[in-house]
Amino acid sequence: MSKNPFQTALTTLQEAAKMADVEPNAIKMLSQPKRIFEFAIPMKMDNGELEIFTAYRVHYNDALGQVKNGLRFVPDLDLDTVKALGFWMTIKHAVGGIPAGGGKGGVRVDAGKLSEGELERLSRAYIRKLPMKGAWVDIPGADIGTSAKTMAWMLDEYEEINGFHSPAAINDKPAETSGTVGSMEATGTGAFFVTMEAVRDLNIPKGSTVAIQGFGNVGRIAARLLHKEGYKVVGVADYFGGVYDSKGIDIEKLEEHSLNHPNRSVEGYAGEKAINKEEVLELDCDILIPAAVQSVIHEENADKIKAKLIMEAANGPVTPGAEKMLQERNIHIVPDVLTNCGSAIVCSFERTQGLTDSYWDIETINSRLKEQITKAYRETMDTAQEKDTSMRNAAWINALQKVSKSMKARGWI
Ligand code: NAD
Repeated sequence: MSKNPFQTALTTLQEAAKMADVEPNAIKMLSQPKRIFEFAIPMKMDNGELEIFTAYRVHYNDALGQVKNGLRFVPDLDLDTVKALGFWMTIKHAVGGIPAGGGKGGVRVDAGKLSEGELERLSRAYIRKLPMKGAWVDIPGADIGTSAKTMAWMLDEYEEINGFHSPAAINDKPAETSGTVGSMEATGTGAFFVTMEAVRDLNIPKGSTVAIQGFGNVGRIAARLLHKEGYKVVGVADYFGGVYDSKGIDIEKLEEHSLNHPNRSVEGYAGEKAINKEEVLELDCDILIPAAVQSVIHEENADKIKAKLIMEAANGPVTPGAEKMLQERNIHIVPDVLTNCGSAIVCSFERTQGLTDSYWDIETINSRLKEQITKAYRETMDTAQEKDTSMRNAAWINALQKVSKSMKARGWI
C-alpha cells in the first residue's frame, strides 16, 4: 500500500524544517492548506442520466502570489492527493522564483470515458462552480486528463461569466486563445538549461554520454537539445522498449521513428541493441535523466547506477532510500522541484502576457526561461555549498525561507 501522499508531504516538510532555520509558526502554517473547496458538479450525460461528480480546488499557500496550477480529471482523485500536489507546487514556485502560490484541483472522473460534449460541459461547469477564480486569485492550468482544449473551454466560460476578455485567468490554453508559445516544450527546455549549469559545475564536458528514461513531452525535448548541443545520447527507453548505441543515437531519426510507432514509442529503433525501461537507468553514462514516472530509482537498483549526474526531470524518480545510497557514492542529484520547474515558469509568463496583452516570441520565452531557471539553479547550488547539504535539501531550505519571510511580512505568523 502506498502512503497517503499528504502524510508524505508533511514528513518531507518536517525533515526540511530541521535545516531551514525558519520559525515554528511557518511550519505550522505550511502544515495545512489555506483554503479547500470541495463541490459537486451534477451533469446530464449524453444518455440522459444524471451523474454527480466530485470536484476539488486547494489553495495551499498564497503568500508569494495568486495561486496557480493544474487541474486533474482522473478517476482516483481524492482530497489528500490534491492537498499534497498543492503543497509541492507551493515549493516549486518558490524554488523557481515564480511570484505565485501553490494550488491544485480537479474532478474525480475517468475523462477517457466522456464524450467530447460531456468533457466540454464538465470543463465549463467546473469553472462556473469554482468559488474563487481570476488572474489575481487562482489560475487553473492543465494536468493529467485536461489539455489545451479543456483550458480553452474554461477560458471561454470564464469570459462569458464576466462579460469581458481575461486571458490571464486560465493557463495552458492554446496560442489561438491568447496562450503562450513554448509551453509544451518548457519543461524539457528548462531541464536542458539546468543540465548545462550542472555539467559546468561537475566538469562534465561536451561529448559526454547521456541516458534518458521517458520519451514524451519532457524526455524528447531534453534529448533533442542535448544532442544538438553535442552530448552523446547513448540510451533512450520508454514504457514499451528502448535502444542503446555507444556511438550515440541520432535523436531526430529517433523522434521520426517514435512518431510512426502506434504508441509513440522508441521501441524497435535500430541501434546497437534493444534495451528496456529498467536497463536504460543502469547504462554506463555520465548523465542520467529519468523523465518518465516516480520511484524508478530505488534501493534495489541504486547500486547499479553508473551516471555521475542524475537530473530529475520526472517528479520523484529517486526514492529517499536510493538517494542515501547514491549520495554515499557521490552521485550528484539535481532535484525535481528545480529540474522540471520550466513549465511552471512559462505558465507565469503566460499570465504576464495575458495581463499586459502583449505576446512574446519563442526566442523571448526561451531567453527569459533560461535566465530565471539558471538563477534558481545558482541559488540552490549556493545554499547547498554554504550548508554543505544536497541540492534537494538546499531547494527546500530556500523555498521554506522565501515563503516564511513573506508570511512574516504579511503578519500571518
Ligand atoms: P508523457 O506522457 O508525455 O511521456 C511519458 C513518457 O514516459 C513516455 O515516453 C512513456 O512511454 C514513458 N513511461 C511511462 N511509464 C513508464 C514507465 N513505467 N517506465 C518507463 N517509461 C515510462 O509525460 P511528460 O509530460 O513527458 O512527463 C514526464 C514526467 O515529467 C512525469 O513524471 C511528469 O509528472 C513530469 N513533469 C512533466 C511536466 C510537463 O510539463 N509535461 C512538468 C513537470 C513534471
